[in-house]
Amino acid sequence: MYVYLNKGLVRGSEAAVSVFDHGFLYGDGVYETMRVYDDVVFMVDEHLARLYRSASMIGLTVPLDNDGIKSSIYETLEANSLRNAYVRLTLSRGYGPPGLDPDLCNEPTFVIIAEQMRNYPREFYEDGIRIIIATTRRNPVGAINPQIKSLNFLNNILAKIEAKREGAYEAVMLNVSGHIAEGTVSNVFFFRDNVLYTPSVACGILDGITRGLVLDIAEREGIAVQEGEFTPDDIYGASEVFVTNTTMEVMPVSGVDDVKYKVGDMGKLLRSIYRKEVVSYVKNAAGRGPALWGYE
Ligand code: PLP
Repeated sequence: MYVYLNKGLVRGSEAAVSVFDHGFLYGDGVYETMRVYDDVVFMVDEHLARLYRSASMIGLTVPLDNDGIKSSIYETLEANSLRNAYVRLTLSRGYGPPGLDPDLCNEPTFVIIAEQMRNYPREFYEDGIRIIIATTRRNPVGAINPQIKSLNFLNNILAKIEAKREGAYEAVMLNVSGHIAEGTVSNVFFFRDNVLYTPSVACGILDGITRGLVLDIAEREGIAVQEGEFTPDDIYGASEVFVTNTTMEVMPVSGVDDVKYKVGDMGKLLRSIYRKEVVSYVKNAAGRGPALWGYE
């Protein structure tokens, strides 16, 4: 396995970052997760735009431009002979003596990890996953804004620990005002009386790229959508619930706390249109993938 580390590929076993790296010491950095379908990095421009946004929100300069990152991604995929993959870009403040001052670090650390995509179990899509509403609250926008896809993930990890304790797969966090925010690694949607609901960005969420596409699809299909502030009771009273993210795509929920849901038609419809979007994106991107970057 090869990893892209700073300026080029290194063997996975030799891909080491210093114990003085501020990503390790303080969680000072940002990241992005992407999914590769048949050699094509799905919605790569949207993911890279978000990486630049996250970096700029913490005053960190991305050492490569858009095309530079794309070619490094394809180089990493090629070196690992991967066509369907999970790709993670990590950008940390870099190596520097201990201390919170970002100026202690001269150069960011840039890492690309690519692994064979491990598909979720089929039952997750057929039967849905169980989620809980965690007691851990989502970081308020005025603390670590959830729009920063930050390496500082402890908030979400605490909620994930609660989910595991309850035998659930995902936890949804409320914001500090008690409104639904988002899952630990996903955005949440629910459907009730012919309206599709999802928390607005103002609730303090990461504006997921999958969420954005699902909202576009819903609009195109003439589905009534409401983005806003919702309480746990709103979700408990829904007829369908699903979560979205880049790797899960659109994943149905079979239960939230003690309330059970069917895998319903709205989630199935959106999932199937989402899959078609992926297929057409991949088809349209043919020739813009590795071939363009000269690795094929
Ligand atoms: N919310 C959080 C906290 C996440 O970590 C993620 C993805 O990892 C998402 C939402 C979904 O974002 P995307 O659809 O861009 O993968």
